[in-house]
Amino acid sequence: MQIHTDYPLLQHNTFGIEAKCAHFVEYNNEDELREALKLIRKDKDTPWLHIGGGSNLLFTRDYPGTILHSGILGKEVMEESKDSLLLRVGAAEDWDSLVEWCVSRGYHGLENLSLIPGEAGASAVQNIGAYGVEVESLIEKVETLHVETGAARIFQHDECEYGYRTSIFKQAYKGKFIVTHVQYRLSKAFHPQTSYGALKNLSENRPTPPTATEVRNEVIRIRREKLPDPAEIGSAGSFFMNPVISEAQFRLLQSQHPDIPNYPAKGGIKVPAGWLIEQCGWKGKQLGQAGVHPRQALVLVNLGHATGAEIQLLSQEIQKDVATRFNINLHPEVLFL
Ligand SMILES: Cc1cc2nc3c(=O)[nH]c(=O)nc-3n(C[C@H](O)[C@H](O)[C@H](O)COP(=O)(O)OP(=O)(O)OC[C@H]3O[C@@H](n4cnc5c(N)ncnc54)[C@H](O)[C@@H]3O)c2cc1C
Repeated sequence: MQIHTDYPLLQHNTFGIEAKCAHFVEYNNEDELREALKLIRKDKDTPWLHIGGGSNLLFTRDYPGTILHSGILGKEVMEESKDSLLLRVGAAEDWDSLVEWCVSRGYHGLENLSLIPGEAGASAVQNIGAYGVEVESLIEKVETLHVETGAARIFQHDECEYGYRTSIFKQAYKGKFIVTHVQYRLSKAFHPQTSYGALKNLSENRPTPPTATEVRNEVIRIRREKLPDPAEIGSAGSFFMNPVISEAQFRLLQSQHPDIPNYPAKGGIKVPAGWLIEQCGWKGKQLGQAGVHPRQALVLVNLGHATGAEIQLLSQEIQKDVATRFNINLHPEVLFL
């Protein structure tokens, strides 16, 4: 286990914020994690946080406590049948390298989730999703350690309470369990999921369905066209969640904006946050070194040396404008620290 003091976080957040933390602990196995958790329990007054690749976080100041990071790697086929296999993956495995590895071996299901930044452990916390697939549809078990006792607990899929970009690990059990491994049920046959808008052209006007590699390559191509590469421009992907509003509020808005995009959702109608932000004139605008991406208004970017506080301020200005113009409150998808 490595323990660092006054540690720079620049390489640990995709926004590229130059914050530091008081202590940074990287462990390599469950025993080391238990030791790290003992240290955290001993020092009850010091805050702590577990991060993955830092692609959904915004450091608004130096973090005054301890940051934990997993070094647990490994991919292991636990069971295999004619049709499927159960793959156990260490929490620290890089997500997109895992997708590439699975596609190259004919283990299917993750293709639409190509190029999402982050690590496998967080995939099970965040319920990552893209192009019509949410990772929860492939997760069978989530292996964890209990923060208070260090005891191992395996969550079956149904215990994880998955929803849109959320799980029990972000809600009722927030800060209570650390994910050490995730078990994914993958298929040996490839069933392309191309019904989602941008992927439809992959299946149209061709005699045979697309291969897994074709779907992965197309997802990567579209994402590179639409989204900034965190290696070049700092961001955390979609900054706000898409709001779900009541039918009545939607009908009122539609009478004023007949072109408002909308999707049926649990509890009402989902409206794209990016569209609302664009209507308020924020697309491509900047406040100091914090900006709104010119091709995707839902993505806030670091234009060079923005502080987390600058990005937070920009997000608040956007929230104010959207609330004033549409009477809709935008909620950040990104975790503020
Ligand atoms: C350019 C870009 C594009 C993106 N596109 C998408 C997209 O298409 N779809 C999508 O769903 N997301 C997307 N995201 C968001 C992000 O990639 C996901 O939320 C990802 O799962 C975060 O992984 P991470 O390892 O970086 O986690 P972090 O950001 O470090 O952490 C996220 C949360 O998980 C918790 N956590 C991390 N590891 C563990 C662990 N081992 N045990 C317990 N808790 C843990 C953290 O405490 C935090 O609450 C995008 C981000 C960027 C920068």
